[in-house]
Amino acid sequence: MPDATIEKVLTSVPRQLFIGGVWRPATDGRTLAVEDPATGAVIAEVADANADDARDALDAAVAAQPAWAATPPRDRGEILRRAYQLLTERTTDLALLMTLEMGKPVAESAAEITYAAEFFRWFAEEAVRIEGGFSMNPAGKGRLVVLRQPVGPCLLITPWNFPMAMGTRKIGPAVAAGCTMVLKPAHQTPLSSLALAELLTEAGLPPGVLNVVTTSDAGETTAPLLADPRLRKLSFTGSTAVGQRLAAMAADQLLRISMELGGNAPFLVFGDADVEAAVSGAVIAKLRNGGEACTAANRFYVHTSVAQEFTDRLVARFADMPVGPGTDATSKVGPLIDRRQLQKVSELVDDAVEKGARCLIGGRPLGGPGYFYPPTVLVDTPPDARLLREEIFGPVAPVVTFEDDADAVDQANDTEFGLVSYLFTSSLDRALRVSEALETGMVGLNQGLVSNPAAPFGGVKHSGYGREGGHEGINEYLEVKYLAVNL
Ligand code: NAP
Repeated sequence: MPDATIEKVLTSVPRQLFIGGVWRPATDGRTLAVEDPATGAVIAEVADANADDARDALDAAVAAQPAWAATPPRDRGEILRRAYQLLTERTTDLALLMTLEMGKPVAESAAEITYAAEFFRWFAEEAVRIEGGFSMNPAGKGRLVVLRQPVGPCLLITPWNFPMAMGTRKIGPAVAAGCTMVLKPAHQTPLSSLALAELLTEAGLPPGVLNVVTTSDAGETTAPLLADPRLRKLSFTGSTAVGQRLAAMAADQLLRISMELGGNAPFLVFGDADVEAAVSGAVIAKLRNGGEACTAANRFYVHTSVAQEFTDRLVARFADMPVGPGTDATSKVGPLIDRRQLQKVSELVDDAVEKGARCLIGGRPLGGPGYFYPPTVLVDTPPDARLLREEIFGPVAPVVTFEDDADAVDQANDTEFGLVSYLFTSSLDRALRVSEALETGMVGLNQGLVSNPAAPFGGVKHSGYGREGGHEGINEYLEVKYLAVNL
């Protein structure tokens, strides 16, 4: 990738806070460094907000709320539609920007832009379909009218792994519903969110509807907002540990909450599965986003009758996934996000190997600058290996065998997480029976990818509550009001 192209993309992005439709520095003038995970080099400095800046952002959101709620749904939808168009037209530059701050290969960044833009298109269509109800009182006198109204100002907190899509998945329904927002992106990947704010302004979003606060101190900066009675909703995507803390804090104001938290997805391959299809699904479910996805397959349970074939083929496919900087067109797996994540993945693999797992490919971090870990397959993974319990968030596939369906389901459900599970089988009966028994909010049936803006995305158990996308997504941003009508 020519340096001039990189320079052009980086310099085109705003670096300041976006509050009330105005770009401005942090009140105390501090900045936050953004690193390229492929080199460890600082590629940009953005404004580093404190609690005062966050309060200003909430003030702007509160001020903009009444007029925004009164804006016709069609107009709100048209803004989203234009934003969809702009995002799509600018895929190449925005994909490069995302790769520079997050690391994934540019082709994957481009796919994320497509996915992210689809949330705007979907919610442009949903904005004009906010339904209510009208019915006769069962007693025969009077009528029952049900309205859906915007919740009000929202705090949206997003992670670094899908810097663009995690933003549009919240902004899209909030805009469609008529809510104003303060968005706080992850400190590792603020640039995509700043670019998004600029693009939405160009699409016609009025000042104050979306405010963006980038910060190196998420806790101190957002705590006053959670304690402020003017804030009406928190939508959080991130780790379960942080989600639990924020849910406890949000309880004081009885905030509406949506929580999209961590996963520990089981990937089940039954004896009657099309093994080649299962391997292709496994490559997607494991190596998409370098394994840094809440939906990433974390544990592979394979029937003993096909375990050898599945593992051999998986190793061959993993061997054919070049690791390198995301800006290099030949790379299929980019770096992990930072040194901490590289250490965590290394520790989890070392722990499994020390406890008896055998490593068939990969298994050690690659040297040099940047945070690279190669695709790794482990077999004979013992039940007490930490990586069967903890989210790996890296390109590591631990394989465990099972003998019968009940055993597979028991092992799959033996976790506090419940976001997604995958299963491969050619039996319709088994597919439905097992899908119904799996304790997850989503199931990938003979496919390794479930994310779809038209479907309700979300988890159960410690993976959170609430749904993003689908017809359900907008309801997270709407309150139900019932009018008892006496005629
Ligand atoms: P994280 O550490 O929980 O951070 C997520 C967001 O929360 C970041 O913006 C972070 O800001 C912020 N944050 C951290 N501590 C905070 C606090 N005390 N108060 C307010 N905000 C705080 O998670 P991550 O490492 O970025 O993301 C990976 C996790 O997200 C994984 O567990 C993954 O499974 C989950 N995830 C879930 C979904 C889903 O839909 N279920 C989707 C994607 C990712 P800073 O960056 O400044 O710390």
